[in-house]
Amino acid sequence: MKIVMLGAPGAGKGTQAKMIAAKYQVPHVSSGDIFRANIKNGTELGKKAKEYMDQGLLVPDELTVDLVIDRLSWEDCKNGYILDGFPRTIPQAKTLDAALEKIGEHLDYAIDVDVPDENIVTRMSGRRACVGCGATYHIVYNPSKKGENCEVCGEQLILRDDDKPETVQKRLSVYHEQTQPLIDYYAGQGILKSVDGTQDMNDVFAAIAAILEA
Ligand code: ADP
Ligand code: ADP
Ligand code: ZN
Repeated sequence: MKIVMLGAPGAGKGTQAKMIAAKYQVPHVSSGDIFRANIKNGTELGKKAKEYMDQGLLVPDELTVDLVIDRLSWEDCKNGYILDGFPRTIPQAKTLDAALEKIGEHLDYAIDVDVPDENIVTRMSGRRACVGCGATYHIVYNPSKKGENCEVCGEQLILRDDDKPETVQKRLSVYHEQTQPLIDYYAGQGILKSVDGTQDMNDVFAAIAAILEA
């Protein structure tokens, strides 16, 4: 099962990807998490990526594509994966398709979690991310049972720098310009499925599970 998650920043891709990963036993591969791990570890790549991320811009394809596609060749991806945050541009999608074609494989589904821009800013300003394990919460819709600390690892929860309203607006315009065209791209391949992302997260998940089990 090879799935790409599509949707605006804050639409709930990561939340759904984690639920799919847990139920269907395939890894959740998040390009944003890979970059944040590099930032945390102080790598050269992390330093470069952070400059773009803090401005709400996409990290250039040269720093992104090989990194993510290489991750898909790891042993744990042999039965599939859920890609979250990649591809984010048409060139990234084409490179991914070419890499899969080379090994005789293809994507099964591109799932678009559809949430209008009006809902996004509240989603993002309430999002809290764990500095330890990257788990995400929402202060209203999905609060941690441990308050300001992570339920999974106990570390502190923070508001990501790029989730502040100024940067969210920029990320949304970048999404509409560079990422939204992927919806038509995958529709053209016949693998696009859309779900209403404004529902409760369990209902969104039920809609996705129905698609995967159809
Ligand atoms: P969100 O889950 O809120 O959409 P991500 O964690 O996916 O955010 O991404 C955070 C930031 O990391 C993006 O705003 C962008 O700067 C960078 N990034 C992540 N994935 C990619 C990608 N595929 N191409 C370019 N930049 C990326
Ligand atoms: P993305 O990966 O698309 O950027 P996330 O999965 O991180 O989005 O979700 C963004 C924020 O919205 C998080 O705080 C998350 O807890 C919350 N969230 C996710 N899905 C829903 C939902 N269906 N209803 C309300 N809040 C949600
Ligand atoms: Zn944690």
